[in-house]
Amino acid sequence: MGRKKKRRVIKRVKPRLPSLFLCPACGVQSVMVVLKRKEREALIKCGSCGLDEFVKISEEAEPVDAYAKFIDKYSGSKSASPEKSLS
Ligand SMILES: [Zn+2]
Repeated sequence: MGRKKKRRVIKRVKPRLPSLFLCPACGVQSVMVVLKRKEREALIKCGSCGLDEFVKISEEAEPVDAYAKFIDKYSGSKSASPEKSLS
């Protein structure tokens, strides 16, 4: 791992969830995951294209778990149509 700080990002410091995930919709790494463990759900929100989605999580879920569920849900709903003809 090892995270290098190369760019200087100016932002108000909120000590939580610095990790951003890749957005399946717009392809930008700007998806943040807000865990609501008490409610057993997580909010997935893309800061780039505005996509947002709730997913169910367990109380011990990590952001990456919620993200994985979101990807499942997203790709599942997207590839609902039968396979396209190959060219
Ligand atoms: Zn996006």
